[in-house]
Amino acid sequence: MNLAGESVAVAGAGPTGALLAILLERRGAGVTLYDSRPDPRRGADESGRSINLAMADRGIHALALAGVLDEIKGALVPMRGRFVHQPDGSGALQPYGRRPHEVIYAISRSKLNRVLLEVALRRPRVQARFEHRLEETDFAARLARFRDLRRGAAIEVPMRPLLAADGARSTTRRRMAALGLIEAREEDLEHGYKELTIPAGPGNSYRMEREALHIWPRGGYMLIALPNEDGSFTATLFLPASGPSSFASLDTGCAIDAFLSENFPDARALMPDCVAEFQRRPTGFLGTVYAGGWHVRDTAALIGDAAHAIVPFHGQGMNCCFEDCVELDVCLDQSSSWEQVFERFYASRKTNTDAIAEMALENYLEMRERVADPKFRLQQSLALELERRFPHRFIPRYSMVMFHHEIPYRAALERGAIQSRLLAELTENAATLAGVDYARAAREIESRLALLPALSSVTKL
Ligand SMILES: Cc1cc2nc3c(=O)[nH]c(=O)nc-3n(C[C@H](O)[C@H](O)[C@H](O)COP(=O)(O)OP(=O)(O)OC[C@H]3O[C@@H](n4cnc5c(N)ncnc54)[C@H](O)[C@@H]3O)c2cc1C
Repeated sequence: MNLAGESVAVAGAGPTGALLAILLERRGAGVTLYDSRPDPRRGADESGRSINLAMADRGIHALALAGVLDEIKGALVPMRGRFVHQPDGSGALQPYGRRPHEVIYAISRSKLNRVLLEVALRRPRVQARFEHRLEETDFAARLARFRDLRRGAAIEVPMRPLLAADGARSTTRRRMAALGLIEAREEDLEHGYKELTIPAGPGNSYRMEREALHIWPRGGYMLIALPNEDGSFTATLFLPASGPSSFASLDTGCAIDAFLSENFPDARALMPDCVAEFQRRPTGFLGTVYAGGWHVRDTAALIGDAAHAIVPFHGQGMNCCFEDCVELDVCLDQSSSWEQVFERFYASRKTNTDAIAEMALENYLEMRERVADPKFRLQQSLALELERRFPHRFIPRYSMVMFHHEIPYRAALERGAIQSRLLAELTENAATLAGVDYARAAREIESRLALLPALSSVTKL
């Protein structure tokens, strides 16, 4: 579809809204982004916090297609594997992939958002209205009402259409659901999170292995840390909301200090301000959004977290949102009306976003518990070995999700389930890789796993 002369309103100028604006403008559309926050290009992140995200092949591929990767790649810090910290203070790096370029990257969330907005707003037909909050949507009259938060005035914007990239708590989604136009539910996780800081060492040095995602798995909870460009790490503590070791139970400075010192002594030693940070910063809540139907005729459609927010344990939320933008662009190629675009988009994406939602929830258990289990580690090593021996049929599930944008999430989930059974069977009586029966592995893989499509390698930086 050629969008020349069309005007599209995008609610939400987060990563999804900003990338979408770039892609729509390329097709000739005039795009107006509305966001309730102040302009993030003017000054620091509103929270003053340094939050970072893991970016993998799906996100990188989307940024490359949109022509934005060159502006962002300097800010990416590679992470070659998970560095697992045991309670006794020992630790080891478990590589994510088999090949040197199979890495994921840490990126500052505010920097990424800023760069995307800068690129979008350099385009001639994109404009942004910050401090404009979407408050009402009248789908029959095709009007969205925003409040200009600086002046207090309400403004009406035609939905021709409105693309709602207004995040996990989407006003648009809730309104569509309240009117019975779609079905939607939000499933909160019993666990929340808190961001803490591991400051840089002297001369902006890194006080732990730089190119790793650090994990302190402790069964019912965990701490993770991702590197920043300036030598610091952003750590995130994931903990139940209530119960014996929980955000509710850590209600004094002493209790917080004792909990961190007992469970994460090595990390605690690197976080001099963690008790004050813990008390000062809000506890974040996590959940999954399931929505059935993402659009109202040709008037409005949900995209990104607004349509399918997921828990962060696979590091795929934003990657998945960026993949949405690419898929919407493909649907524009194949359609002649917005309604057709939205129908195709939902048909192709929903099964995949449901699949990554499921894998993200499963990964919480893997990160907080299984990575410390020797049997699991053997199976991880075996998965990489089987990929080396049978690359056309066997790719570890983590690698399919993180390094192969050509493999849809649904296929990764389904193949992963077969592979997981296979790994359990092949390691049942083996304590090391040398003890695995590879002739049996070959027979089973041939009969149970179909040939993979031809794959290009990871998107090059
Ligand atoms: C703790 C945590 C860790 C994460 N880690 C990763 C990771 O490692 N890798 C990864 O890929 N993903 C990660 N994610 C997920 C990722 O942050 C989200 O998937 C991504 O930010 C979604 O982008 P979005 O633009 O759709 O929504 P958002 O980033 O939520 O942006 C929505 C925008 O809409 C605006 N808005 C909201 N309501 C209104 C309104 N009524 N009117 C106007 N504007 C409005 C907001 O101000 C915001 O700018 C993580 C998430 C969390 C919570």
